[in-house]
Amino acid sequence: MSRPQPKFTVAICGAAIGGFSLAAFLSEYSDSQHPVNVDIYESRPEVSTRGAGIGIWKRSWQLLQNLGLDKELDRRGVPHPKDGEARGPVFRKSDQEAEGYEFHSHVMPYGPLTLTRPLLLELLQSKLSADCTVHTNTHLVRYEDHAGGRITLYFKDGTISEADVLVGADGVHSATRAVFFDNLALADPSKADVYRRCIPPRWSGQFVYRTLIPVEKLRNVNPRHIALSDRPQIFCGKSKHALTNPTGEVLNFVMFHTVFEECHDYDGEYITELSKDEVAKAVEGWEPAVQELIKVSDTYTRWAVHVIDPIPLSVHGRVALLGDAAHAMLSHQGVGGGQAIEDAHILGRLLAHQAITKENTPNALKIYQELRLKASQKAAERSKENGMMYEFIHPDFAFDSRKGEPTRDQLTRLGQAIGDSFQWLAVGGCDEDWTMAENMLKNGSTL
Ligand SMILES: Cc1cc2nc3c(=O)[nH]c(=O)nc-3n(C[C@H](O)[C@H](O)[C@H](O)COP(=O)(O)OP(=O)(O)OC[C@H]3O[C@@H](n4cnc5c(N)ncnc54)[C@H](O)[C@@H]3O)c2cc1C
Repeated sequence: MSRPQPKFTVAICGAAIGGFSLAAFLSEYSDSQHPVNVDIYESRPEVSTRGAGIGIWKRSWQLLQNLGLDKELDRRGVPHPKDGEARGPVFRKSDQEAEGYEFHSHVMPYGPLTLTRPLLLELLQSKLSADCTVHTNTHLVRYEDHAGGRITLYFKDGTISEADVLVGADGVHSATRAVFFDNLALADPSKADVYRRCIPPRWSGQFVYRTLIPVEKLRNVNPRHIALSDRPQIFCGKSKHALTNPTGEVLNFVMFHTVFEECHDYDGEYITELSKDEVAKAVEGWEPAVQELIKVSDTYTRWAVHVIDPIPLSVHGRVALLGDAAHAMLSHQGVGGGQAIEDAHILGRLLAHQAITKENTPNALKIYQELRLKASQKAAERSKENGMMYEFIHPDFAFDSRKGEPTRDQLTRLGQAIGDSFQWLAVGGCDEDWTMAENMLKNGSTL
């Protein structure tokens, strides 16, 4: 039997959390008699098989359940996240020479699921229908959006392809975003400066220092070290905070260092190797537990964390930006991947909807922009605010040990604010967002 004629073709640039989530939602919600044809283009030779754990909060968990991924986890023996309270990280005041102390024991309102990135990508790929094709080694360089409706895609190796809709899910350095805002700048020279500023990612003003600490080595330095407990620790101090996360025989160590509180231009290396002495210098005068941690590992990498300043549009004609390509953010709430999944849910269901045809795809894209752009930018803002709270530079909790130590009472209030900041992630609400999207589609309210 011949396969049904697809209603149109969506090209997705980027085969990671955002791109695969979109393909999975298109597969799940398309009408089998009028499927959406999906081509996923990935610049790497293969889908990434690397990456640490990624926390999935209740909002995105509900969406993964809608895709049936709860059953895939059962098959792999991975326990589901728990509704109800779970013990989270412990926050310590650490930027003084005396021993630090706990000021907030985080009880999470919902026990998030942590999956390794390769497993999450494998689960999403398991949901792709026969109408989805993954093309690796295909690096998008540019595209042309023709007035008649077709989009031509040009790849680094000289190959060319076509689609009816293009979704840039190609991350913080998105090539799609570059062409998207360049086209807007050419179309409206009066706003050319604003649009062109949206093209390059910007340095967040933060560096992150990373290493893996062998548990055995830390035990030799101090068998009672606080980081050897079974809970993640967050060592807080002025303009810096370090996290340790126990993962079996190694501790994942990450330390953020805020140099500027606003985004800045940056012309240095994105990733550099650092010695432990250089990292130790950054935490001079901090409590002994931090000094001991730094001593254990010999090499560190330092990453200049880049983000996207809030963009005014994520949709232009038949082209949309999704995930980090639209809103790469700081990681202090662990929600960037979840936001990519939420984008994919709304856009995927809209494009799959029976009311959307090849001719009116821009309507679906406009509703997607209306519902998702501001919401994801709000999530980015919250993540940034959390980092400022952890580093005592939030306007409501701006402590400076040089001018006097914060009181226990002030730190307790800070702990409560940190606890409250995670509440929105525990209540769900993505299905309600879809109801809103469908109503907008039916009523033509934003069109
Ligand atoms: C330290 C850290 C911790 C984090 N923790 C969490 C967490 O706990 N929970 C959470 O939800 N989020 C977390 N995040 C954020 C999350 O990792 C990202 O938001 C998410 O991975 C973005 O997915 P994406 O698919 O949009 O982009 P990416 O993962 O960047 O994928 C883009 C893909 O596009 C491909 N590509 C790029 N350019 C091209 C091109 N020109 N042509 C073709 N392909 C191209 C790339 O190779 C890549 O495969 C964390 C981030 C960091 C840095």
